[in-house]
Amino acid sequence: MRKHWRYLVSPLFALLLVNAITYAGFFDSLELALEKEIGRNAYEEIVAEMRVMKLPAAEENRLQSIFRRLVAVCERKKELQYTLTVVEDNTVNAFALPGGYIFVHTGLLAFAESDGEIAGVLAHEIAHVDRKHSMSQLKRQIGMAFLLQLALKKSNAKEDIAKLGAIVINLAQLGYSREAEFEADRYGVYYMEKAGFNRKEILNFWQRLLDRTGGKEDPAFLYLFSTHPPTTERMKRIREL
Ligand SMILES: [Zn+2]
Repeated sequence: MRKHWRYLVSPLFALLLVNAITYAGFFDSLELALEKEIGRNAYEEIVAEMRVMKLPAAEENRLQSIFRRLVAVCERKKELQYTLTVVEDNTVNAFALPGGYIFVHTGLLAFAESDGEIAGVLAHEIAHVDRKHSMSQLKRQIGMAFLLQLALKKSNAKEDIAKLGAIVINLAQLGYSREAEFEADRYGVYYMEKAGFNRKEILNFWQRLLDRTGGKEDPAFLYLFSTHPPTTERMKRIREL
């Protein structure tokens, strides 16, 4: 009998030890799985509602290659599959969903005057995902306990996932907190420069938007203007980085 115990105890102890070590990792992977599921759900919602645009091959390749250069230097490139989707919409806007789904409007592509300007905007959106702004906001709004519950009971949680999808779409299109926006600007500049672009490009982009609208709200720029922190403040901070 004693002999048997000895054989049993040490594997049990080893198992507990491994469990304790992987405990944190377990929650991280649960959260990541949930982020992917919420993101995927919201992505499908957007694709069903907006007009996805297939650009001419040369333009599409150019855009995707800018995007890939940025993804290559971001932090979560291994755990997420970042994708860029173009939607037909004349407003100057871009947005990101959790899980790495980035969208850009044709209006923004038309307004941008260089690859670097597009890179600056895309880098900002990638930074929102890389810094988990959406998931942090969700955690604040509905609590981590509920999110984990949802992750563990995946099969019957379809409705809740769809509700969360609606929240993250709203967040992505209407903007995050001031601090999250400044952080996305900071990381965005870091990524664009690491990918070989110059921060002057994103400053040019913002300046032209300011010139165009005189800093006033304009329906064509509504999202980028009314929900982000004041553009002049953002430009000042980017210059000072
Ligand atoms: Zn933003």
